[in-house]
Amino acid sequence: MNGKHNGHALNGHHHDVDELVDAIGDEHGAASIDTPMRPDAFVLDDDTKIDLIEEHFREIMGILGLDLTDDSLKGSPRRVAKMYVKEIFRGLNPANKPAATLFDNKFRYNEMLVEKDILVQTYCEHHFVPIIGKAHVAYISSGKVIGLSKLNRIVEYFSKRPQVQERLTVQIADELKKVLQTEDVAVIVDAKHLCVSTRGVHDVNSSTITSAYGGKFEDEATRQEFLRYVSCSNVTI
Ligand SMILES: [Zn+2]
Repeated sequence: MNGKHNGHALNGHHHDVDELVDAIGDEHGAASIDTPMRPDAFVLDDDTKIDLIEEHFREIMGILGLDLTDDSLKGSPRRVAKMYVKEIFRGLNPANKPAATLFDNKFRYNEMLVEKDILVQTYCEHHFVPIIGKAHVAYISSGKVIGLSKLNRIVEYFSKRPQVQERLTVQIADELKKVLQTEDVAVIVDAKHLCVSTRGVHDVNSSTITSAYGGKFEDEATRQEFLRYVSCSNVTI
């Protein structure tokens, strides 16, 4: 066998794979509603994960050529590891899911409840850079209500993961349906992707809007009412 030829074929193969990986990243499509997780995702505890990520991130910085004895850089691997596990990706762990206490709908308020302009800070799973924007959620009570801050907490929980915006939107809607025991929920996410604005096409102006409508919100009039409330907001991000 000709080793040189083999090496060439391998390089060619790598090149194809790179192109494919770029194409998937730029399309930002979601393959599944559930975040793809390994079956052994929580065998390691948080402290062990932080130690391992620190070690690997130090490797990455070293490969990039950074001098890790520098005062400013030496703490970065540990900082990044803690940030991943304890902050920006803490929503991967179901143990961190917010508990939602239901209340009886005492006021018999059976109209639409809309909470708009909920801050969304999530992370593109293709590039691991932020996606920042707003979520607008609505539901029509089936007899139960939840505290308003719980709506924010649910958005936050599913945001603290590597995400694609389509999946985030559906995950929020599905959780609201489960918690509120109704299909009558609506979710809109309007967000800017830093992987689009700071690299690639460098488009700083575009934002991406995704939506999920269930139950009565599939009805044109109900949906229009929701959109009317939401369009009063000033989406500036
Ligand atoms: Zn991206």
